[in-house]
Amino acid sequence: MKAQRKELLEILSQCKDYLSFRRDMGLGFLPASFCNNPKPRRTGVSPVEVRSSSEEHIVSQKRPTLADVRRELGDCELCKLHKTRTNIVFGAGNEQAKLVFVGEGPGLDEDIQGEPFVGAAGQLLTRIIRAINLRREDVYICNIIKCRPPKNRNPEPDEIEACKPFVLKQLDVIRPRLICALGSVAAQALLETAAPIGILRGRFHSFRGVKLMPTYHPAYLLRNPAKKREVWEDMQMIQKEYQAL
Ligand code: URA
Repeated sequence: MKAQRKELLEILSQCKDYLSFRRDMGLGFLPASFCNNPKPRRTGVSPVEVRSSSEEHIVSQKRPTLADVRRELGDCELCKLHKTRTNIVFGAGNEQAKLVFVGEGPGLDEDIQGEPFVGAAGQLLTRIIRAINLRREDVYICNIIKCRPPKNRNPEPDEIEACKPFVLKQLDVIRPRLICALGSVAAQALLETAAPIGILRGRFHSFRGVKLMPTYHPAYLLRNPAKKREVWEDMQMIQKEYQAL
């Protein structure tokens, strides 16, 4: 009886994960073909075989990976930034990271190399990560938008709207325990607020049940080194939480 109850709870938990995943992927509640064909198993064809490639991982019950999200992003043309970018900067780091840094968007160096935070601000971010006894390989680093805005201007609302689903999917795959939003663009986009970064920083917020610490962007720190003390306070809070995981 106990074993049956356990099995039933496991099945329910899997159903819950599956439905949450579909919701977060922007898919319907259930696949249309599932509703149209209430007896799919009687066809003798495995669910994976009748599925389009983008949904294969769902039906085969395999959790989606970052590679799946990258594949879905493809050669994205969802916003105007595709016309001026050199490379899409998807993100880099540990797919199992407990801590994810989310920045604003690629700059010139990132656009050229296709990697996030590799320019001057990136070097400072690397030092910040080292300061909490982690390495870049331990964490995952990505941005709210994946293509460089011309002349490094701020991302525009339509660009954030087009790109944000992908960062959400990345977070959904990684399932970090902690998120650090670097700068106002990332913090405001994730927390869906217009509050300034100076007000948001300094405490954890809940992002879909995950602790999210907003802090100043490393590029801002390069221009305002006096703000490093506040970032250090924020990072110490992150480090304390990380060590307790
Ligand atoms: N600034 C960002 O917000 N992201 C990068 O990848 C580089 C600089």
